[in-house]
Amino acid sequence: MIPTGADVVIVGAGPTGLMLAGDLAAAGVRTAVLERRSRESNLTRAFGVHARTLEVLDARGLADELTATGEPVRELRLFDRVHVDLTRLPSRFPYLLITPQYQVERVLRRRAESLGATLVGGVQVVDLRQDAGEVRVDIAGGQSIRASYVVGTDGVHSRVRQALGLPFPGRAVLQSIMLADVRMTAAPTGVLAVNAVGDCFAFVAPFGDGWFRVFAWDRLDQQPDSAPLDFEEIRAVTRRALGTDFGMHDPRWMARFHSDERQVPTYRVGRVFLAGDAAHIHSPAGGQGMNTGIQDAANLGWKLTAAVHGWAPEDLLDSYHAERHPVGRLVLRSSGAIIRLAMIQSQIPRAARNVIGGTALRIGPIARKVAGTISGIGIAYAPPRGGHPLAGQRAADVPLTGDAQPAARLYEALRDGVFVLVAPPELATIAAPWADRVRQATPADTHTPTMLVRPDGYVAWATGDTLPERRDTAIRDALSTFCGSPTKLGR
Ligand SMILES: Cc1cc2nc3c(=O)[nH]c(=O)nc-3n(C[C@H](O)[C@H](O)[C@H](O)COP(=O)(O)OP(=O)(O)OC[C@H]3O[C@@H](n4cnc5c(N)ncnc54)[C@H](O)[C@@H]3O)c2cc1C
Repeated sequence: MIPTGADVVIVGAGPTGLMLAGDLAAAGVRTAVLERRSRESNLTRAFGVHARTLEVLDARGLADELTATGEPVRELRLFDRVHVDLTRLPSRFPYLLITPQYQVERVLRRRAESLGATLVGGVQVVDLRQDAGEVRVDIAGGQSIRASYVVGTDGVHSRVRQALGLPFPGRAVLQSIMLADVRMTAAPTGVLAVNAVGDCFAFVAPFGDGWFRVFAWDRLDQQPDSAPLDFEEIRAVTRRALGTDFGMHDPRWMARFHSDERQVPTYRVGRVFLAGDAAHIHSPAGGQGMNTGIQDAANLGWKLTAAVHGWAPEDLLDSYHAERHPVGRLVLRSSGAIIRLAMIQSQIPRAARNVIGGTALRIGPIARKVAGTISGIGIAYAPPRGGHPLAGQRAADVPLTGDAQPAARLYEALRDGVFVLVAPPELATIAAPWADRVRQATPADTHTPTMLVRPDGYVAWATGDTLPERRDTAIRDALSTFCGSPTKLGR
């Protein structure tokens, strides 16, 4: 049944909306998700879950369940000899997990529902309007629902974005990519097989359950998305690009699609936010779309929670656009660069690409930067002026200690969905007045700087100061700045 009101209405139950719904419901926010489809999707679309997304899921206790559904890929072959080594990522998940998008959605949906989010299928949002106090969301058929905030996670053709009157500027990158999910009698020996020759490219990835995803593209055969697709065409292009079609057979799904690069100019208009494909789309190279959407949701969830619970610092909701828009732009550029480099046709520039790219990726700092960007591990937010160098960075999963410590590492401590003050135990009393928003955790390594970690796993503030009076005052100031006024008197 469609509720008449909620604290937050989420339009669209793709991975972005489901992730956000779980985070809000976990924090006690009344959340309704309105989804046009009336049943679960079994489309594979995305099939790569990057290290940072797995960390974000780990901080919600979901990573082990998801990793059991797929297959790790430890090296990405971008083109010919240009490889990205993921094994050195400073993460529990030094790989790309190959698993179908519907598995990710299943895990996120179960969590959101079990935590109390209301998911309603078969409901199409047609319009919305807002005033200073609330948003009214109109549904096909005439009903409406009121909310304090609305988030459009309704994908590339977002109705929410249209209702806000926002443009979606950008351009087409690649037309007529052919996709199929197939069985194979002679599967590739490497985990991923990819190659481009002359006018075509093909890419094969295993889902780990006997099914494979094939991408094939032929410059000389460009068709609209609606054109019929012949399986034999996919096999022929794969043979031309990879030298074999691996005995592919029994396609369970085939589609043509085109890839655009677009980004909405603002992620927030008043009480309405955009996230995931509704806010940005890019080439599928690098497998970034679903990952970026899930991380948009992780960034927005705790901020909306703070606003609904009434303790959000004034500019907190604006920081969603300030932090996530540049990340979307970076993803647009990096995935666009991969696809353009992959498509180079002439022999000499192509050879130069392979030599320069191959050499560059053997240089430690460049290799780390590329792996960090693709995996999301290297994504950071702008630090406050004069802040500690760790501020804005992703918090590493530091080991924790202490008898009263049920969490063995930081990402387990983050599962409560609140800030974590990583600090020696004697400082726990400082955070006590914020007990509903902050928990204290003792680092096992005494050299770990004292830091305040946001619910989304980024460092809000840190200090290397060990002088007790200065440090204690600085912690109190940081708690007031980032976590709002304390609920209990104790200052
Ligand atoms: C072929 C292909 C391969 C890809 N591979 C990868 C990959 O390997 N890795 C990766 O990270 N990404 C990949 N992507 C991108 C990825 O699939 C998307 O980025 C991801 O699905 C975006 O999630 P989302 O939740 O933002 O939007 P969506 O998944 O599009 O979900 C939007 C939801 O909103 C619903 N909806 C729409 N309009 C309304 C309305 N008016 N009212 C109510 N509900 C509505 C839709 O039914 C849908 O369920 C790939 C995409 C394609 C096409």
